[in-house]
Amino acid sequence: MHLLNRYKETITDGPGLRYSIYLAGCAHRCPGCHNTASWNPSAGVPLDEEVLSDLIEEINSNPLLDGITISGGDPFYNPDELATLLRRLKEATHLPILVYTGFTIEVLESVARYQQALAYIDFLIDGPFVYALRDPSLQFRGSSNQRLIDLGQRYHR
Ligand code: SF4
Repeated sequence: MHLLNRYKETITDGPGLRYSIYLAGCAHRCPGCHNTASWNPSAGVPLDEEVLSDLIEEINSNPLLDGITISGGDPFYNPDELATLLRRLKEATHLPILVYTGFTIEVLESVARYQQALAYIDFLIDGPFVYALRDPSLQFRGSSNQRLIDLGQRYHR
């Protein structure tokens, strides 16, 4: 798994003040994608133990953060490594986690290798970017097919 970028404080990737982690790799190839450089899974730097410790330290040193956002690319490009990353972030920070993905929740719930990561996600913004449905007035989303889903509420946890 490769880290493309990190934003220590942002208000554009979900509700409140968030720490955003951008992961490399995406196979959806949405026409009009805002970041085609993120499709390459080898872009950025390896997200190894040292980098992860650094991210966690930065997150835990900022008491103003409301949550963590994982974007890309599509974080579900590497579902097993994503589950491990989310578990480590959750255990170390106890902050709500929002994940962007080009898959719909229906697809993620129906494929076994995606389900493990869902257990650590509080909010999901799902679905591919659809150029014909693009709407700059939407909060946190690029096109109107994408949904902000409260997984805590969905799974009664
Ligand atoms: S899912 Fe996101 S990163 Fe991937 S092609 Fe679509 S818009 Fe681009």
